[in-house]
Amino acid sequence: MKTDTELLKNWGDDLPFRALTVPPHRGSTVLFDTVAEFFDRHRQFYDGYAYGLYSHPAARALEKAIAALEGGARAVLAPSGMAAITLVNLTVLSAGDEILIPESSYGPSRQAARHLLGPLGIVARDYAPDADMNDLLSPRTRLVWVEAPGSFGMEMQDIPGIVAAAHRAGAAVASDGTWASPLGFRALSHGVDFAVQALSKYISGHSDVLMGSVAVADEARFRSLKDRSRTLGYGVSPDDCALTLRGLGTLAVRLDRQAATALALAEWLSTQTGVTRVLHPALPGDPGHALWARDFTGAGAIFSMLLDPHHAANLPAFLENCDVFRIGASWGGLHSLFAPADMSVLRDPVQWADAGPLVRIGVGLEAFEDLQRDLARGLARYRGAARDAAE
Ligand SMILES: *Cc1c(COP(=O)(O)O)cnc(C)c1O
Repeated sequence: MKTDTELLKNWGDDLPFRALTVPPHRGSTVLFDTVAEFFDRHRQFYDGYAYGLYSHPAARALEKAIAALEGGARAVLAPSGMAAITLVNLTVLSAGDEILIPESSYGPSRQAARHLLGPLGIVARDYAPDADMNDLLSPRTRLVWVEAPGSFGMEMQDIPGIVAAAHRAGAAVASDGTWASPLGFRALSHGVDFAVQALSKYISGHSDVLMGSVAVADEARFRSLKDRSRTLGYGVSPDDCALTLRGLGTLAVRLDRQAATALALAEWLSTQTGVTRVLHPALPGDPGHALWARDFTGAGAIFSMLLDPHHAANLPAFLENCDVFRIGASWGGLHSLFAPADMSVLRDPVQWADAGPLVRIGVGLEAFEDLQRDLARGLARYRGAARDAAE
């Protein structure tokens, strides 16, 4: 079955009646008919229903859908993308272990490595996204994170190469694959052990859900993640699961359209005065293009542009006066967003080479022409040009 069709399946096939979608059930107290069943309720922990925090029908349906979409055996849900990242770390690592995190990865994930894992006796080390793994892996390395492309800087990584080196050294690999979603990159089929998604982005897709997932290829890993999620007290809301299942049905069409608009805007922006560089691995001239073309089957709909440092003071005039684009931190919903970034803070302690402002552009479902006009007028304001660039 093609993915587009599979995404429309009703994943809640264990309900006592048939329905086209999965209705949310509150995480109510589950009742047992016998004392023996009550004492045995932990058996329901990995598959059935024992307690609202551990599962409810919409969560089970979403777990199945995510596992299928990732090409994995099982998936665990977490209350946010960040919570999914932490779940992997706290499942795999203990005192004395080392973890490698690319300096291009999602900022809060690097901060958590320092401020949460550090005091637990876990040594987190940053690495350049294109570093030679063999120089970094030690007998204590238990986990290597990859994220391609990187947050804001959009750097690609040789994920199969990193997986091979990490596995040779006895370390597991976790991937934050939120940018391409599993439609554009199936991390598990490239040997990654833990495939993380921020479901808050494309998969729920409407900027109204916060959730994360971890997919794995085997039952034992699923059980250890699920055990750890219980000790952390993680649960997910039935409404959020139902909204995410609804988002899944349109994921393929949304992402196709959004990614196509994003690439067309990225191509056009690369020709505009005031833009010094466009960072998008699907652009043929991008330094990460060869890796993207080799490993990915699709692109996400966010990319970054670097602006001429001479006009940096005009950045607010550009970003604050647009008709369609708004300023906001997240992405993956229906609306186009700008996120300016201070790379000297994000990449600390690494030097970020470019002097000009960096703006991440998350592209929504609006028409290409309207977004292009907005950017053309904004760039005119940025350059300090009096006349409207859109003629
Ligand atoms: C947004 C994001 C996350 C975190 O997701 P939340 O649900 O907001 O916690 C993790 N990784 C990447 C790459 C993201 O963009």
